[in-house]
Amino acid sequence: MTYEAATDRYEQTPTRRVGNSGLVLPEISLGLWHNFGSVDDFDNQRAVLHRAFDLGVFHFDLANNYGPIPGSAEENFGKHLKADLGKFRDELIISTKAGYHMWNGPFGEWGSRKSLTASLNQSLSRMQLDYVDIFYSHRFDPNTPLEETMGALASAVHSGKALYVGVSNYNAEQTERAAAILNDLGVPLTIHQPRYSMFDRTPENGLFTTLEHLSIGAIVFSPLAQGLLTDRYFAGIPEDSRAARAHFLQQNSITEEYLEIAKELNGLAADRGQTLAQLALAWVLRQSAVSSALIGASSVKQLELNLAALNNKHLAPAELKAIEPLAKHGLG
Ligand code: NDP
Repeated sequence: MTYEAATDRYEQTPTRRVGNSGLVLPEISLGLWHNFGSVDDFDNQRAVLHRAFDLGVFHFDLANNYGPIPGSAEENFGKHLKADLGKFRDELIISTKAGYHMWNGPFGEWGSRKSLTASLNQSLSRMQLDYVDIFYSHRFDPNTPLEETMGALASAVHSGKALYVGVSNYNAEQTERAAAILNDLGVPLTIHQPRYSMFDRTPENGLFTTLEHLSIGAIVFSPLAQGLLTDRYFAGIPEDSRAARAHFLQQNSITEEYLEIAKELNGLAADRGQTLAQLALAWVLRQSAVSSALIGASSVKQLELNLAALNNKHLAPAELKAIEPLAKHGLG
């Protein structure tokens, strides 16, 4: 069946400007880290992508190694683009990254010019694209001069293979240096992708302040702590859940302490007429430094429920105060 995108898609999801750039993102974006690999159902992927786009989610985040198998999420995304989504290429913001292990040898990971350039070429080929909208250095490389890593990002822009560049998992000081180097090369550091949720508040210790000071946007990943900030595990570990597959989220994260706190947060969410996931998304979006919350979804239903968070984003001071002692570092 031919896909016809919903004509009212831009009325569905509010957007935010990324720092002081021309880039604008939906308040909730969709990541393809899980659920889009060669092991995952292709028709479900298609349904989730189409529903997302129909609901105004025009940003899709990838990386060279997403799968499993590594690379297969980009390959599958390329197939979905070719089948139908690709006709909306000028409306889509597609990102990819390089930095974690992807192939053997010294250039299959980290931040050398060789590695980043080869990886971007591979990503473009897997997705069958001429360019990506955002290209990230996925992690800081302590053994490569930052000038070289940022030089490779700048070259990606100058060669037309990326429109904007970003860094991910860099701390405040590394980010400040990266921005200064890129500035000298005439390419702004537009966006940062840190992990941020009620269960990992690291960016509050200086990164958000630095980003705001430098007018760099933040798209925060795993705002639901991989599913821990939802009711997914309240009655055990479902067979089809991320924890059951033990792919990054381990079953030993589902502790008594975790369940107690998550259920209390769930109660606070219910008082607002929300699910825990919706409260967790409203909570990350309360930060002025945050341009977008980058979620994952294994079904259309999860996606729809999560996007409904945007109908009730305001958190009263009393609600924030009640959340504060429960928003604990280290549970995610
Ligand atoms: P989330 O914290 O949003 O977790 C998503 C998972 O939570 C889903 O796959 C699903 O798991 C579960 N879930 C989502 N909604 C619901 C719901 N309403 N009810 C119950 N369970 C729900 O984000 P991710 O950890 O998936 O990360 C999002 C994106 O961030 C990635 O795809 C990637 O693009 C990016 N990322 C970037 C990293 C980086 O280093 N830059 C690292 C990690 C992620 P289930 O399978 O159990 O249904």
